[in-house]
Amino acid sequence: MQTSDSLSDQVAIVTGGGRGIGAAIARRLAGMGASVVICGRSRARLDEVAARIRGDEHLCEAIPCDVTRLGDVEELARLVLERHRRVDILVNNAGIGGPDVPLHELAPHDWDAIFSTNLRGVYYCMRAFTPAMISAAHGHIVNISSIAGRNPLPRGAAYAATKWALNGLSYSAAEELRRYNIRVSVVSPGSVHTEFSPHEGKDARKMLQPEDVAHVVAMLVTQAPQSFCSDVVLRPTQKP
Ligand code: NDP
Repeated sequence: MQTSDSLSDQVAIVTGGGRGIGAAIARRLAGMGASVVICGRSRARLDEVAARIRGDEHLCEAIPCDVTRLGDVEELARLVLERHRRVDILVNNAGIGGPDVPLHELAPHDWDAIFSTNLRGVYYCMRAFTPAMISAAHGHIVNISSIAGRNPLPRGAAYAATKWALNGLSYSAAEELRRYNIRVSVVSPGSVHTEFSPHEGKDARKMLQPEDVAHVVAMLVTQAPQSFCSDVVLRPTQKP
Protein backbone atom coordinates (compact mmCIF):
# COMPACT_ATOMS: atom_id res chain seq x y z
CA MET A 1 0.00 0.00 0.00
CA GLN A 2 1.26 3.47 -0.88
CA THR A 3 1.10 6.60 1.22
CA SER A 4 0.24 9.92 -0.39
CA ASP A 5 0.87 13.41 0.96
CA SER A 6 -1.76 14.86 -1.34
CA LEU A 7 -5.28 15.38 -0.10
CA SER A 8 -6.65 16.61 -3.41
CA ASP A 9 -10.28 15.58 -3.92
CA GLN A 10 -10.65 15.17 -0.15
CA VAL A 11 -13.02 17.24 1.99
CA ALA A 12 -11.96 18.15 5.52
CA ILE A 13 -14.03 19.75 8.28
CA VAL A 14 -12.18 21.59 11.06
CA THR A 15 -14.22 22.79 14.03
CA GLY A 16 -12.91 25.88 15.79
CA GLY A 17 -11.06 26.82 12.62
CA GLY A 18 -11.24 30.59 13.12
CA ARG A 19 -8.08 30.90 15.19
CA GLY A 20 -5.34 29.05 17.08
CA ILE A 21 -4.79 25.35 16.49
CA GLY A 22 -7.87 24.94 14.27
CA ALA A 23 -6.75 27.70 11.89
CA ALA A 24 -3.29 26.12 11.61
CA ILE A 25 -4.82 22.69 10.89
CA ALA A 26 -7.10 24.21 8.24
CA ARG A 27 -4.16 25.98 6.56
CA ARG A 28 -2.09 22.81 6.57
CA LEU A 29 -4.81 20.53 5.16
CA ALA A 30 -5.76 23.11 2.51
CA GLY A 31 -2.08 23.42 1.57
CA MET A 32 -2.06 19.65 0.99
CA GLY A 33 -4.91 20.04 -1.49
CA ALA A 34 -7.98 19.32 0.63
CA SER A 35 -11.13 21.32 0.27
CA VAL A 36 -11.46 22.59 3.84
CA VAL A 37 -14.57 23.74 5.67
CA ILE A 38 -13.97 25.62 8.90
CA CYS A 39 -16.61 26.31 11.51
CA GLY A 40 -16.89 28.28 14.75
CA ARG A 41 -19.17 30.85 16.35
CA SER A 42 -17.43 34.04 15.20
CA ARG A 43 -18.12 34.64 11.52
CA ALA A 44 -15.55 37.45 11.30
CA ARG A 45 -12.67 35.25 12.49
CA LEU A 46 -13.73 32.39 10.19
CA ASP A 47 -14.01 34.67 7.17
CA GLU A 48 -10.55 36.13 7.88
CA VAL A 49 -8.90 32.69 8.01
CA ALA A 50 -10.80 31.37 4.99
CA ALA A 51 -9.90 34.48 2.92
CA ARG A 52 -6.21 34.10 3.81
CA ILE A 53 -6.21 30.43 2.79
CA ARG A 54 -8.02 31.21 -0.45
CA GLY A 55 -5.49 34.02 -1.06
CA ASP A 56 -2.84 31.28 -1.16
CA GLU A 57 -4.93 29.63 -3.87
CA HIS A 58 -6.19 26.83 -1.68
CA LEU A 59 -9.77 25.80 -1.03
CA CYS A 60 -11.45 26.93 2.17
CA GLU A 61 -15.00 27.80 3.08
CA ALA A 62 -16.30 29.24 6.36
CA ILE A 63 -19.62 28.09 7.82
CA PRO A 64 -20.62 29.52 11.20
CA CYS A 65 -21.67 26.75 13.60
CA ASP A 66 -21.86 26.46 17.37
CA VAL A 67 -20.98 22.83 18.08
CA THR A 68 -23.07 22.87 21.27
CA ARG A 69 -26.23 23.32 19.15
CA LEU A 70 -27.51 20.18 17.50
CA GLY A 71 -29.41 22.19 14.86
CA ASP A 72 -26.25 24.11 13.87
CA VAL A 73 -24.23 20.92 13.53
CA GLU A 74 -26.93 19.17 11.50
CA GLU A 75 -27.18 22.19 9.20
CA LEU A 76 -23.38 22.23 8.80
CA ALA A 77 -23.44 18.56 7.77
CA ARG A 78 -26.34 19.16 5.41
CA LEU A 79 -24.54 22.06 3.69
CA VAL A 80 -21.23 20.21 3.41
CA LEU A 81 -22.78 17.04 2.04
CA GLU A 82 -25.02 18.96 -0.36
CA ARG A 83 -22.08 20.98 -1.74
CA HIS A 84 -19.32 18.38 -1.68
CA ARG A 85 -21.17 15.02 -1.59
CA ARG A 86 -18.44 13.61 0.65
CA VAL A 87 -16.47 14.09 3.84
CA ASP A 88 -13.07 12.48 4.29
CA ILE A 89 -11.61 14.15 7.37
CA LEU A 90 -13.30 15.52 10.49
CA VAL A 91 -11.09 17.35 12.97
CA ASN A 92 -12.91 17.97 16.24
CA ASN A 93 -10.81 20.82 17.55
CA ALA A 94 -13.29 23.36 19.01
CA GLY A 95 -12.81 23.61 22.75
CA ILE A 96 -12.93 25.94 25.72
CA GLY A 97 -11.01 25.95 28.99
CA GLY A 98 -13.22 27.60 31.56
CA PRO A 99 -12.32 29.76 34.55
CA ASP A 100 -9.12 29.28 36.55
CA VAL A 101 -10.79 28.11 39.80
CA PRO A 102 -10.92 24.95 41.92
CA LEU A 103 -13.81 22.62 41.15
CA HIS A 104 -15.83 23.60 44.23
CA GLU A 105 -15.87 27.22 43.03
CA LEU A 106 -16.86 26.42 39.44
CA ALA A 107 -20.32 27.73 38.55
CA PRO A 108 -22.75 25.14 37.14
CA HIS A 109 -23.21 27.16 33.94
CA ASP A 110 -19.43 27.05 33.35
CA TRP A 111 -19.46 23.28 33.95
CA ASP A 112 -22.24 22.96 31.36
CA ALA A 113 -20.46 25.16 28.81
CA ILE A 114 -17.18 23.22 29.12
CA PHE A 115 -18.88 19.83 28.78
CA SER A 116 -21.21 20.96 25.99
CA THR A 117 -18.36 22.32 23.91
CA ASN A 118 -15.57 19.83 24.53
CA LEU A 119 -17.60 16.62 24.69
CA ARG A 120 -21.18 16.98 23.48
CA GLY A 121 -19.95 19.04 20.51
CA VAL A 122 -17.66 16.20 19.44
CA TYR A 123 -20.52 13.69 19.78
CA TYR A 124 -22.80 15.94 17.69
CA CYS A 125 -20.19 16.31 14.94
CA MET A 126 -19.37 12.60 14.86
CA ARG A 127 -23.08 11.79 14.81
CA ALA A 128 -23.61 14.18 11.90
CA PHE A 129 -20.64 13.19 9.71
CA THR A 130 -19.97 9.52 10.44
CA PRO A 131 -22.90 8.12 8.39
CA ALA A 132 -21.46 9.64 5.19
CA MET A 133 -18.07 8.13 6.02
CA ILE A 134 -19.68 4.74 6.64
CA SER A 135 -21.46 4.93 3.27
CA ALA A 136 -18.14 5.70 1.60
CA ALA A 137 -16.31 3.06 3.68
CA HIS A 138 -13.59 5.65 4.24
CA GLY A 139 -12.80 8.47 6.65
CA HIS A 140 -10.55 9.85 9.36
CA ILE A 141 -11.74 11.53 12.54
CA VAL A 142 -9.12 13.38 14.59
CA ASN A 143 -10.14 14.50 18.06
CA ILE A 144 -7.98 17.16 19.70
CA SER A 145 -7.62 16.19 23.33
CA SER A 146 -4.91 17.41 25.71
CA ILE A 147 -2.19 16.30 28.10
CA ALA A 148 -4.85 17.34 30.63
CA GLY A 149 -6.75 14.27 29.41
CA ARG A 150 -4.02 12.07 30.86
CA ASN A 151 -2.88 14.04 33.92
CA PRO A 152 -4.57 15.85 36.80
CA LEU A 153 -5.17 19.57 36.16
CA PRO A 154 -5.72 21.51 39.40
CA ARG A 155 -7.96 24.57 38.79
CA GLY A 156 -9.10 22.95 35.57
CA ALA A 157 -10.86 19.81 36.80
CA ALA A 158 -13.91 20.10 34.55
CA TYR A 159 -11.73 20.78 31.51
CA ALA A 160 -9.54 17.78 32.38
CA ALA A 161 -12.65 15.64 32.88
CA THR A 162 -13.89 16.49 29.37
CA LYS A 163 -10.56 15.52 27.84
CA TRP A 164 -10.33 12.24 29.82
CA ALA A 165 -13.88 11.51 28.64
CA LEU A 166 -13.02 12.51 25.07
CA ASN A 167 -10.24 9.93 25.06
CA GLY A 168 -12.66 7.18 26.18
CA LEU A 169 -15.22 8.29 23.62
CA SER A 170 -12.59 8.29 20.87
CA TYR A 171 -11.03 4.89 21.68
CA SER A 172 -14.50 3.31 21.85
CA ALA A 173 -15.72 4.92 18.62
CA ALA A 174 -12.46 3.84 16.96
CA GLU A 175 -13.36 0.22 17.74
CA GLU A 176 -16.91 0.73 16.42
CA LEU A 177 -15.74 2.31 13.17
CA ARG A 178 -12.60 0.44 12.12
CA ARG A 179 -14.72 -2.23 10.36
CA TYR A 180 -15.94 0.55 8.04
CA ASN A 181 -12.39 1.62 7.22
CA ILE A 182 -12.76 4.74 9.36
CA ARG A 183 -9.90 5.74 11.63
CA VAL A 184 -10.42 7.69 14.86
CA SER A 185 -7.27 9.26 16.30
CA VAL A 186 -6.63 11.33 19.40
CA VAL A 187 -3.98 14.07 19.57
CA SER A 188 -3.01 15.24 23.05
CA PRO A 189 -0.82 18.34 23.00
CA GLY A 190 0.88 20.01 25.94
CA SER A 191 0.64 23.81 26.24
CA VAL A 192 0.23 25.47 22.85
CA HIS A 193 0.86 29.17 22.25
CA THR A 194 -2.66 30.42 21.35
CA GLU A 195 -5.34 32.72 22.82
CA PHE A 196 -6.74 29.71 24.70
CA SER A 197 -5.32 30.50 28.14
CA PRO A 198 -2.63 32.80 29.52
CA HIS A 199 -0.11 29.99 30.30
CA GLU A 200 1.39 32.34 32.89
CA GLY A 201 5.07 31.92 33.65
CA LYS A 202 5.71 29.83 30.53
CA ASP A 203 8.26 30.79 27.89
CA ALA A 204 6.22 31.23 24.70
CA ARG A 205 9.28 30.47 22.55
CA LYS A 206 9.56 27.00 24.07
CA MET A 207 5.84 26.27 23.98
CA LEU A 208 4.27 24.21 21.23
CA GLN A 209 3.01 26.25 18.27
CA PRO A 210 -0.35 25.63 16.53
CA GLU A 211 1.61 24.46 13.46
CA ASP A 212 3.13 21.63 15.54
CA VAL A 213 -0.34 20.21 16.14
CA ALA A 214 -1.23 20.74 12.47
CA HIS A 215 1.88 18.77 11.51
CA VAL A 216 0.69 15.80 13.59
CA VAL A 217 -2.77 15.94 12.00
CA ALA A 218 -1.15 16.01 8.54
CA MET A 219 0.92 12.93 9.43
CA LEU A 220 -2.13 11.07 10.71
CA VAL A 221 -4.34 11.67 7.71
CA THR A 222 -1.65 10.71 5.22
CA GLN A 223 -0.76 7.43 6.88
CA ALA A 224 -1.11 4.43 4.57
CA PRO A 225 -4.69 3.13 4.75
CA GLN A 226 -3.87 -0.25 6.32
CA SER A 227 -2.59 1.30 9.57
CA PHE A 228 -3.53 4.07 11.91
CA CYS A 229 -1.97 5.87 14.79
CA SER A 230 -4.71 5.98 17.41
CA ASP A 231 -3.09 8.16 20.02
CA VAL A 232 -0.41 10.86 19.82
CA VAL A 233 1.01 12.78 22.78
CA LEU A 234 2.73 15.96 21.62
CA ARG A 235 5.18 17.57 24.03
CA PRO A 236 7.47 20.59 23.71
CA THR A 237 11.11 19.54 23.40
CA GLN A 238 12.22 21.85 26.23
CA LYS A 239 9.99 22.47 29.21
CA PRO A 240 8.48 25.96 28.72
P1 NDP B 1 -8.49 28.93 20.97
O1 NDP B 1 -9.23 29.49 22.13
O2 NDP B 1 -7.41 29.74 20.34
O3 NDP B 1 -9.51 28.49 19.82
C1 NDP B 1 -10.64 27.73 20.14
C2 NDP B 1 -11.50 27.60 18.89
O4 NDP B 1 -12.68 26.87 19.23
C3 NDP B 1 -11.95 28.95 18.37
O5 NDP B 1 -11.87 28.95 16.97
C4 NDP B 1 -13.38 29.06 18.82
O6 NDP B 1 -14.14 29.86 17.92
C5 NDP B 1 -13.82 27.59 18.76
N1 NDP B 1 -14.98 27.32 19.59
C6 NDP B 1 -15.12 27.49 20.92
N2 NDP B 1 -16.37 27.17 21.30
C7 NDP B 1 -17.03 26.77 20.18
C8 NDP B 1 -18.33 26.33 19.91
N3 NDP B 1 -19.26 26.22 20.88
N4 NDP B 1 -18.66 26.00 18.64
C9 NDP B 1 -17.75 26.10 17.64
N5 NDP B 1 -16.49 26.52 17.84
C10 NDP B 1 -16.14 26.86 19.08
O7 NDP B 1 -7.91 27.51 21.47
P2 NDP B 1 -6.78 26.54 20.89
O8 NDP B 1 -6.63 26.72 19.44
O9 NDP B 1 -5.60 26.66 21.75
O10 NDP B 1 -7.46 25.13 21.24
C11 NDP B 1 -8.02 24.27 20.27
C12 NDP B 1 -8.20 22.89 20.90
O11 NDP B 1 -6.95 22.42 21.38
C13 NDP B 1 -9.16 22.86 22.09
O12 NDP B 1 -9.94 21.68 22.01
C14 NDP B 1 -8.22 22.78 23.29
O13 NDP B 1 -8.81 22.11 24.38
C15 NDP B 1 -7.07 21.98 22.71
N6 NDP B 1 -5.79 22.16 23.40
C16 NDP B 1 -5.25 23.41 23.55
C17 NDP B 1 -4.04 23.55 24.22
C18 NDP B 1 -3.42 24.89 24.43
O14 NDP B 1 -2.51 24.98 25.29
N7 NDP B 1 -3.79 25.93 23.71
C19 NDP B 1 -3.33 22.38 24.77
C20 NDP B 1 -3.98 21.13 24.53
C21 NDP B 1 -5.17 21.02 23.87
P3 NDP B 1 -15.38 30.78 18.39
O15 NDP B 1 -15.03 31.34 19.74
O16 NDP B 1 -15.51 31.78 17.31
O17 NDP B 1 -16.55 29.83 18.43
